[in-house]
Amino acid sequence: MIDRESDLAAFAARSAHTRGRERPEEPPRSRSQFQRDRDRIIHSTAFRRLEYKTQVFVNHEGDLFRTRLTHSLEVAQIARSVARCLRVNEDLVEAISLAHDLGHTPFGHAGQEALNECMQPYGGFEHNLQSLRVVDVLEERYGAFDGLNLCFETREGILKHCSPDNARRLGAVGERFLLRRQAPIEAQIANLADEIAYSNHDIDDGIRSGLIESAQLEQVPLYARHRAAVLELMPLIGARRAVYETVRRMIDTLVSDLIGESERRIAAVAPAGIDDVRAAPALVAFSAPIRAEADVLKTFLLGNLYRHPEVMRMTTKAGRIVRELFAAFHGEPRLLPVEHCARLAREGPRAIADYIAGMTDRFAIREHRRLFAVGEF
Ligand code: MG
Repeated sequence: MIDRESDLAAFAARSAHTRGRERPEEPPRSRSQFQRDRDRIIHSTAFRRLEYKTQVFVNHEGDLFRTRLTHSLEVAQIARSVARCLRVNEDLVEAISLAHDLGHTPFGHAGQEALNECMQPYGGFEHNLQSLRVVDVLEERYGAFDGLNLCFETREGILKHCSPDNARRLGAVGERFLLRRQAPIEAQIANLADEIAYSNHDIDDGIRSGLIESAQLEQVPLYARHRAAVLELMPLIGARRAVYETVRRMIDTLVSDLIGESERRIAAVAPAGIDDVRAAPALVAFSAPIRAEADVLKTFLLGNLYRHPEVMRMTTKAGRIVRELFAAFHGEPRLLPVEHCARLAREGPRAIADYIAGMTDRFAIREHRRLFAVGEF
């Protein structure tokens, strides 16, 4: 096989040096280890379900809004560009990016909060841990093992944050949280690519939905600056295109800044290998002024979009659906499909959380209706 990893930086992850898979397998013949991981993720059931799970807007509200699937693709695209510039492993950042949201419940954060509430007596629920659980345990596609049996580096990258208790329970993959060390550079890239993707596409979706107006965004310097430049360069541009041009330039600014600042940090530390990356402060980061501007943008979105009355109405409803589904299955386990009912008997309420977390928005809505609407069966 052609070695496409030989010209990567010394501190990049390499297939040949992977810490391996839980269940040992023959190395792939025509792909790298991380390409194999990426391919397994794309073929997974959980990945296909991302198409019908929401970020902010409930899935059936409009055909133009982001779903978790398109979000994950945007994250992968941004992360790969950054990885290529920093000469680190593109296949690994792609695998991590495509898998990072696999554990999300239906209805975005509202669903996760509701499920976490229901699971409080049983260890809680956290979507990031759930993403790891999907690839480690829940996917049932291979004869020889449960889950996707991914490489250590991919699994470690998926686990973005983690409480000390969970880190102890998870063993090697959670170790860095106990030792207070950084993730490998590929995981750091995927993490910030996620932020760049959602902050910018939420502006786009927010404006398209009519929930936020371009004028309100004048208080966000990153937006205001680029919008002014766009209007000066292209005074006749239509409203819609002006938003696209502005957002496109914002993404470019954030990505370029991320690459520049990370190059500076890498040059200062000169890591000779992954262990040096782990021991150093975060090497992938925005510069201080852009970090501050990105925070203003996030705060704006929190106050004006994620807590907009229209969104709150939807998230309140979504939370109720999840809580009522959980209560129904918990109260009467025979409402669950047979295999989940058997798992509930073996493993307790975690089986209900797995079942609900795996639902798409529309499946959860339909299931709720079937369970609660009198006259529907
Ligand atoms: Mg994400």
